Amino acid sequence: MSQSQGSGATTLLSVEKLTKAFGSFKACDGIDLDIRPGEVHALLGENGAGKSTLVKMLFGVLAPSSGRINWRGAPVDIDSPAEARRLGVGMVFQHFSLFEALTVAENIALSLDKRTPLATIAAQARDLSVAYGLPLDPNAHVADLSVGERQRIEIIRALLQNPQLIILDEPTSVLTPQEADRLFDTLEKLKGEGRSVLYISHRLEEVQRICDRATVLRHGKVTGACDPRLETPASLARMMVGTEVAEVRRDADVAMGEVTLAVEGLNVAPRTPFAMPLRDVSLTVRAGEILAIAGVAGNGQSELFDALSGEYPTAENEVVRIRNKGVGRVGINGRRLMGAGFVPEERHGHGAVTGLSLSDNLLLARNTSDHRAFLGGGLLRLIRHDAVKRATARICEAMDVRKSGVDPLAGALSGGNLQKFIVGRELDRQPALLVVNQPTWGVDAGAASRIRQALVDLARAGSAVLVISQDLDEIFEVATDIAVISEGRLSPIYPAEDLSREKIGLLMGGLHDKSGAETAHAH
Ligand code: ADP
Ligand code: MG
Repeated sequence: MSQSQGSGATTLLSVEKLTKAFGSFKACDGIDLDIRPGEVHALLGENGAGKSTLVKMLFGVLAPSSGRINWRGAPVDIDSPAEARRLGVGMVFQHFSLFEALTVAENIALSLDKRTPLATIAAQARDLSVAYGLPLDPNAHVADLSVGERQRIEIIRALLQNPQLIILDEPTSVLTPQEADRLFDTLEKLKGEGRSVLYISHRLEEVQRICDRATVLRHGKVTGACDPRLETPASLARMMVGTEVAEVRRDADVAMGEVTLAVEGLNVAPRTPFAMPLRDVSLTVRAGEILAIAGVAGNGQSELFDALSGEYPTAENEVVRIRNKGVGRVGINGRRLMGAGFVPEERHGHGAVTGLSLSDNLLLARNTSDHRAFLGGGLLRLIRHDAVKRATARICEAMDVRKSGVDPLAGALSGGNLQKFIVGRELDRQPALLVVNQPTWGVDAGAASRIRQALVDLARAGSAVLVISQDLDEIFEVATDIAVISEGRLSPIYPAEDLSREKIGLLMGGLHDKSGAETAHAH
């Protein structure tokens, strides 16, 4: 700690009028910020607020357009990550950059600025993993590791450089609650050693739990600085969004219509050693109904989504039925043609191709289903780019997608804005059935509220909606009916008003309480 306070500096890093422009758009606009030694400093803001852009400048990944960065009181020019590391800045990115086919130690070796024998790296990584409570086998292949374990590699690789400031960009958006708790312990330890942490998050409760100070960004500008412990989640959200976050509105009673999706005795064998088998899953979703499936990550959610979407067709055709037709062996495009829409969990690469524009991403998702809307008449059947652009604009307008150009690359959108676009793209087709996996994972309060309202509105308009989510707040906000998935089995389906958090917690643990099961309605 003493060495971090050279020449009496009370700030480790300070930023003055820091600005980053992309063309005429300022992602960061005159930002002032200071980070003290030994504090956990939160950087809060809606998706698209400029948080990632700011920290990329601090780590030398992006060059500032103007402004100043001071390190221990002296101006510095951080022109590369190597320079950032040399100063004592370490970074854990939002999206990991790891080679799947290599081991943990090999991945770390690739990122070091000086050559170090693999055995030394493995030994150091092992020591750090023990010291900081981040269990990790240096010889494991990355392909075999969970998201939480992959994040530990990034943290250990940052710690190997003995940084004074560690920046984490939305580290818990990919973690289970248990993994997040472990991470918080690690952050406490780092802080105890006098290191500073710059912590980006959209989860207000966790910011209140672990951060000493918070700086709030909105549209690239600092809109507030506070002690998060003296705030409430609502007051923090207001600083981020500028207004009160809209509460999701829904009608008391929506009449349920026909069964739109029916699953009967779905069994799926695990495809990889890490997959969860699905065991005898049955459910129905009616028009007007929002069935939410709660559960801790890794209990069969992605396997269920894959079977429902047709990403992995099932062996028997009749186990999955859409509007009374067996579709188990029908692929995703065939199911789309029958009026279904799907939003997968992973935005980058799955929900959208980051290297393509929004309009090309729209065209990709409609390649077979609604081709006609985008094809001209005549022999050539050329793509009507004007129609595609108009639909893109319509979707962005409807979902309030904030972007820096008319038709930017999907990868240039912040996570929440890209997610709004992906959800909006499905809604624009007015699907009779929508299946969504983790609709607002890693998304800020404003975007999450917009997405949840859209799901409620869709059901209200007569569609059947199935939401797979780990977020209980979200589930209680949108669901008419709730079931819990645990070790590949689905609990009975309960009307939402009959379930409490505690009851769901018990079901998550696999304790199917019999008295509860009797009150579940017959689906
Ligand atoms: P946050 O991390 O707060 O969600 P970002 O810093 O990722 O936000 O993005 C801030 C804004 O800058 C967004 O509107 C985003 O679309 C835009 N942006 C980010 N990177 C680029 C880029 N390389 N080119 C153009 N615009 C970008
Ligand atoms: Mg970001």
